Parts: sequence; C-alpha cells; structure tokens
Amino acid sequence: MQLLKSNPIKIVMIPMILIGLVLLTIGLWRFQQDIKDIHRHIGITPHEIRYQLQQTNLQVALINQEINLTRQYQIQNDKQDLINRAKQLKSRIENIRVVWRTLKSDLDKTNLQEELNTFESHLDTLIQLLITGDLNASQHLNKIFFELQQVKIFSAAMYSHGSAFIREHTDRYVKKLSRISMAINTLILVFIVLLAVLSYALMLIFQQKNDLNKLSIEDPLTGLYNRRQFNLHLAHDVSEYKAQQSPLSLMIFDIDYFKLFNDHLGHIAGDHALQRISEHLKSLKKTETNIEFYRVGGEEFACLCHEQEHSKTQKVAEQIRASIEALNIEHTMSKVADNLTISIGIASAETLEELNSDSIYSVADQALYEAKKRGRNQVYCYQREP
Ligand code: GH3
Ligand code: MG
Ligand code: MG
Repeated sequence: MQLLKSNPIKIVMIPMILIGLVLLTIGLWRFQQDIKDIHRHIGITPHEIRYQLQQTNLQVALINQEINLTRQYQIQNDKQDLINRAKQLKSRIENIRVVWRTLKSDLDKTNLQEELNTFESHLDTLIQLLITGDLNASQHLNKIFFELQQVKIFSAAMYSHGSAFIREHTDRYVKKLSRISMAINTLILVFIVLLAVLSYALMLIFQQKNDLNKLSIEDPLTGLYNRRQFNLHLAHDVSEYKAQQSPLSLMIFDIDYFKLFNDHLGHIAGDHALQRISEHLKSLKKTETNIEFYRVGGEEFACLCHEQEHSKTQKVAEQIRASIEALNIEHTMSKVADNLTISIGIASAETLEELNSDSIYSVADQALYEAKKRGRNQVYCYQREP
C-alpha cells in the first residue's frame, strides 16, 4: 500500500496508464474508421472495372478477327451476329461508366471518361456502318475496318489507362492498410509492455503488502509473533474465557543470566541463541496444538496455553523448560547450569479474582519473578491464597 502512495507511482504510473488507455481507445477508433474507408474504396468496384475493361478488349479483338477474315479471305460473316456483338460491347461500356462513377477516388478520373466517350462514338459509327452497308463491298468494308481500328485503339488505351488508374488507386489503400497493421502491431506491443509494467507494479504492491503484514505481526529476529500480536491474542482469549470458559493460561519465560551470556560471548551470539530457542519453540508447537508462542521483550517470551487440565499446563511448561536446557547452548557464566536455561511463571485464568489482560500478565510476571527468586531454571505457578 505504501508503494501505491509513493510519489513515483502516483506521478508517473497512474497518468501513464490513463494516457495509454486514452491513446488505445483513440487508436482503435481511428483504425476502425480507416478500415471502413479502405473497404469502401477497394472493395469490389476496382476489380469490376478492370474485369469489364478486359472483357471489352477481348470482344473488340473478336470483332476485329471476324472482319479481318472477311476482308482478307472474303469469308462470309453473319452480319447480324457482328451487329449483336457490337451492341453488347456498347452495353458493356455503359456498365463501365456506371461502375466508374461509383468509384470514389482522389485521383483524376477524366482521362478514362474521355476515352470512354470517344470509344463509344466510334463504336456507334461502326454499328451504323454494319447496319447500313454491304459487307462484301470492299469500299464499305474498308470504312468499317477503319472505324474498327479506332475502336481497337481506344479500347487498348482505355484498358491501359483504366488499369494503371486502378493499380495506383488500390496501391494507396494497400499501403494505408499495411501502415495500419504496423500501427496495430505497435499498439499491441505497447499494450503488452503496459500490462507487464502493471503486473510488475501489482506484484511489488502485493509483495510489499505481504512484507508489511508480516512485519506488523512478526518479530523480525525470531519470526515468532510479536508483542502487538500477543496483546491482540491475549485480549481475544480473555474475552473467550469470560464468554464460554475456554481454558486459558499464560506463561511468561525469561532466559536466565542472559546478560552474562551476552557479556561473555557477545551480542551476536546472544541473537543466535534467541533464534535457536525460537526455532525450538516453533517445533514444539507442531506437537502441542493448544499453545502459541510470542516474543514479548528482549529475552522474554510468552505462551498462551489452552489446556483444560491445570496439571497438563504445568507439564507443558516443564517440557518447555527441560527441552530448552536440552538444546545444550553452552553458558559457562550461568550460576544454575552449564547450559542456557529459562525460568517460567504461569498464571491461569480461573485462579484470578478479577480477570483482564493486564491482571493475568502481571500475575504471570510475578510468578516468573518467584521462579527466579527460588533459584531459576524452574517453573512457578501462581496459586490463589487459601
Ligand atoms: P535474569 O536471570 O535475572 O533474567 O538475568 P538476566 O541477565 O537475563 O536479566 P537482565 O534483564 O538483567 O538482562 C537481560 C539481557 O538480555 C540484557 C540484554 O543484554 C539482553 N537482551 C535483550 N534483548 C536482546 C536481544 O535482542 N539480543 C541480545 N543478544 N541480547 C538481548
Ligand atoms: Mg529479562
Ligand atoms: Mg533474563
């Protein structure tokens, strides 16, 4: 949470994410418009124009071939068939005109427009000559042939200009399309990077949250619950006892002559000893499920015990004391043993006249004092005066 409140995150990350999202939305909207535009301009229309121009060219070539045959080899041609072909050609030109008009382009369209007009006027003359004249009269056939050549020339010009126009027109949009696809790729990349940065930031936030959570409940040197957590648990257990008589005993234990240990072996060795004892306490918790350990002071620990039987609580305390002595942490300066030992004071909820967190703690502390006074390395349990 601290990370979220920190300036780099506030100042850089949040505006960056917002700007990224706005840019992404604008970008996607523009791509959508561009793609619609491309679809409108290079849909079926340009292909249709190219196809019609190609067919016109072919049909002109066919008429040309038939008239050539008549002219060179005097082969009789079906005149009506030729007229029909020429008329079909005329309707094809009309088709091209219609499609040509619907094609939206910034390029200049007048060239093909003019060629279409000239082509059509020569085609009209050719149809007229075919209708009125005799195909076998060579003079008339020459006239037809001349018009046909004009039709041929303009058909070829139309095809060439039209195709070039369509190619340039289509090229523009294909280029635009490739630019769009590049931009989309970049956008996706930016989005992925943004996601990665976000995930990393989230990971840091959660990591920091976990660390803070841990720090707020754990003692950093030993990994046991800290004093704050102890106070919370004790208050909870006291109210549980009051509400439903759930068994509760508090043990407070303190290392014997630990100052001498530190003075003799140094503070670091003292820290290691505290860590060894804490690890041992954690392992005890695995077998004894009704207890929880806390580090409540420098070399002071507490244990909340929920055994039903008072004798069992005492047994557990004795087991804790003996097992710590059995860790064999050498303490040559100790006046009670060769190894590091602890003294334990116990207070049980049912023995107190007035129960609250402070009173049970104070009584357990007095019991610990008594254990120290009686010679250390022992358990003393507070008993109510008869
Ligand atoms: P007693 O048997 O009466 O408890 O004697 P003591 O020497 O253990 O008691 P005292 O309270 O006089 O000394 C406690 C010592 O614990 C003082 C300090 O050097 C040591 N201590 C407290 N916290 C730490 C810690 O975090 N690390 C280390 N190494 N030593 C600590
Ligand atoms: Mg002490
Ligand atoms: Mg001590």
